[in-house]
Amino acid sequence: MNHPSPPSLMIPSSSASPSSITNVPTGRPPLWTNSTQRKVCRLYLYTTLSISKILEVVHHPMPVDSIPGKDSANKKLNALLDKEPRWLKPRSEEDMIRRCEQLAKSPTRATACPWPAPLARPHSNSAPPPFSQTCTTPIKQETGAQSATLGVSPWSNSPVSQLPSTPYNGPPTPQPPGAYPATHGHGRSLSDDYTAGDVTLRLMPVSSRLSTSTDQTTGSFHRMLEGFSDNYIRSVKRLVKRYTAPIGQTPMGTSPLSDTVAAEPTWANDPDASPVFSTRPFPLPGDLLSIDVHLQQQNYCFAESEEHQKRWCLCHAQHQTPNFAWATAQGPTRHGMQLLTAGAYPAHAELRDDFGNTMLHFLAARGLEELLIHAVQADYSAPILNAKNSAGQTFLHVLGASWFQRLDALLRLLDLLATGVFDQGLRFDIGACDHYGRTFFHMLPSSDIPSETLQSIFQRYRGIIRTSRDAFDFQPISPDAGAPTEPMDCDRRESHDSGNDPFGYRLLDSRFLQLAREASSNPSLEDDAGRNGLHCLAMATLSQRSLINKVSPSPTTPQGRNKKKARTPEEMLDSSEEKLQFRLSLVEGLLDAGVDPNHYDSRGNTPLMAFCAELPEDDDYKTGPLILERLIKQGANVHARNRAGETALHIAVRCGRKLAIKVLLDHGANVHARDASGRSLLALADVKMRSCKEDVPVDYCHYEACRAYLSGKGYAVQEPSVLQEWGART
Ligand SMILES: [Zn+2]
Repeated sequence: MNHPSPPSLMIPSSSASPSSITNVPTGRPPLWTNSTQRKVCRLYLYTTLSISKILEVVHHPMPVDSIPGKDSANKKLNALLDKEPRWLKPRSEEDMIRRCEQLAKSPTRATACPWPAPLARPHSNSAPPPFSQTCTTPIKQETGAQSATLGVSPWSNSPVSQLPSTPYNGPPTPQPPGAYPATHGHGRSLSDDYTAGDVTLRLMPVSSRLSTSTDQTTGSFHRMLEGFSDNYIRSVKRLVKRYTAPIGQTPMGTSPLSDTVAAEPTWANDPDASPVFSTRPFPLPGDLLSIDVHLQQQNYCFAESEEHQKRWCLCHAQHQTPNFAWATAQGPTRHGMQLLTAGAYPAHAELRDDFGNTMLHFLAARGLEELLIHAVQADYSAPILNAKNSAGQTFLHVLGASWFQRLDALLRLLDLLATGVFDQGLRFDIGACDHYGRTFFHMLPSSDIPSETLQSIFQRYRGIIRTSRDAFDFQPISPDAGAPTEPMDCDRRESHDSGNDPFGYRLLDSRFLQLAREASSNPSLEDDAGRNGLHCLAMATLSQRSLINKVSPSPTTPQGRNKKKARTPEEMLDSSEEKLQFRLSLVEGLLDAGVDPNHYDSRGNTPLMAFCAELPEDDDYKTGPLILERLIKQGANVHARNRAGETALHIAVRCGRKLAIKVLLDHGANVHARDASGRSLLALADVKMRSCKEDVPVDYCHYEACRAYLSGKGYAVQEPSVLQEWGART
C-alpha cells in the first residue's frame, strides 16, 4: 500500500464519543436552552409533527412571532443530529406509535416519575424480564456486576443505586409536593425538562393524570394540536412533559470513570459497557435443545439474583412457546422423542425448530452417538449437513456431554467429518464459527476432556483446525504467522508521557498506521493487542487537523467551526468526505489483500465493531456507511459478538452512531440481541443517556436518535424475549 504518512497520529478519542460536535449557538440564546434543545430533538425523533409545530409546542406559551424560525430550528437540528437528519424521523403514525410505545416501557425514562411505567408489572417466574418491575431494577443489576476493565462497579457512586430495589407492589403513596426534592436530593436535576407546574403532575398516578383534564396544560396541547387525535396529543404531551431522560445522574455529572481515571474513556473501555461473561455464554440456541435437562440441574433461581437479571438462567426461556421445538421444559416433543428412540427419517431432515436447530443438532445434543453418525451419512441429511442455528452453531458445536466420555465415538465422528465426502459431493465445514468466532475445537477446552487427551486431539487434527482467535482470546493452536515483521521502536502507550500529548496518542496512532500499511503485504499481521490491519485502520487518525484536536483540544476552536474553514488538505478533518474516501480506499486495499474482516483482537472485538465505533458521522454522511457496507459485503459478520455479548449494533449504540445503526439494520443485524448483562439495545441507549452531561445536549440527542430509530424503523423492543433474540430469521 502506498499512501502518505501523516507526520504524527493519535487515537481519535473524541470521535469515539458523540460529543465531537460543538454546540454552535444559533437563534436567540434564551430561546435555545439545553432543555429546549432536548425537547425539540425528542419531538423531532418521536413524532410526525412539522418543525414549525414542534417549535410552537416547545415554546408554548410564548407568542408565535417571538419563537425561533424554521431556519434557526433546522440549523439547530443539524448541529444536534448531524447533517440531513430527516431519515431519523418517523415515516408514519404507525412508526411514531412504535417509538412511543417502547419509550413507555423504558424503566429508566420512567425514573423521571416516582412510579413505574404504565405497562410495568410485578415480576414472577412467569413474567419474563425483570426489568419491568421497578424504576431501579436495571440500575440495580449493574451494582452487582464485575467490571471487566476497571474492577469497580459502574454505578457504585450513583445515588440511584442506593434506592430500594424491592419489587413493584402497586403505586406509591402520593406525597405532598414538598416531599419531592428530598426523594431525589442529590443536587442534580433528574429531569430538567419539567416546569414548575409539573411537580403536581409527577405526583399523580399516570392513569389518573391521563384520564383527567384538570391541569391547564392539557387544554393548551389540544389548542396547539387542533385536528390531531386524542392519542396523538397525549403522546406529544408525554414526550414534552414526561419522557425526559434522567441525564447527569452521576455525582459530578460525568461518567463514573472520569472522576478517578485520567484517560479519556473510549468505546473499548467504556464504563457503561457490559462486563464480560464470567463463564461461557449461556443459554445459546444449542442449549435450548436440552432445556429440560438444564432446568433439572439449575439451582433455585430468584428474581433478584445476578444470574436471573443477566438472563444466565433458563427461567426466561422455559416459558417461551415456540411454534416448533425438539424439546421443551417438559422434555422432548413427539418429533424429538421419535428421533431419540427410532433414529432419523427423511422427513425429519426438513424440520427446524424456531431457533434454527435441525435434527442433526438435536441428535448431537441428546442422541446416542451411533444415531448421529448414521444420520450424518444418510443422503437426506445432505441439505442440512452444514446448517447453522441462529447463533451460528453447526451440529458439531452442540455435542452433548456423553460424547466427551466416549472418545472413540468422538474421534470416529471427527474423522468422518474431517475427511468424508457426503452425498452430492458435500464436505462438512469443520472450520465453521459460531457468533463468538468459535469452531468446535475452540469449545473443546470447556468440556471435561483431560488436558493430555485434548492435546492429542489438537495434534491429530492439526492440519484442519482453524487457528483464528475467538471472542474469548483463545486459539486452539498458535498460528505461525502474526509476529510483527519488525519490532516497534516505541514505548507502550501507558509509559509514554509528554506535556502536549499526555496519553501518547501520537505514538499509538503512528503504530496503528504502520501496521495497517504493513498488513497490505502481510494480511495476518497483528499488533500486541491482536488487532489486524483493519482494526488498526479503524483506530488510526488520518488527518493532521483531527490529530491536533485530539492531542490538545482547544475550547476556543471547536471542531464544528474548523470544519467550515478547511480549504487545504491539511485542514481537513477525519469526518470530511475527502478523508473518509481515503479511508475507504485503504479499507478496500486491505480487504483485497486478504485481511480478515472477522478477525478478533485479544479484547474480543472485530474490525466491523471498531469501525462502527470510530467512524465519525458529524460531517460527510455518505462515505462512512460505504466503508461499513464494504466490510459487510466482504464477509464481516453483523451477528458476531464480543465477550461481553455485544454485537456491532450494541457498540454503535454505545457510541451514539446513528449511521452505523442504519447500515447494520439494512444488513439484517439482530435488533433483539442482549449483551452479557441482559441489556437490550434500547436499555443500553437508556444507560448511555444517564451519563450525558446536562450542558452537552448533542450527546443526549444522538442516543435519543439511536433509540428512536431502532424502535421505529428497526422494530426493536425494550425487553426482547428469548424467542425474539434467538428466533431464526428466514
Ligand atoms: Zn432465573
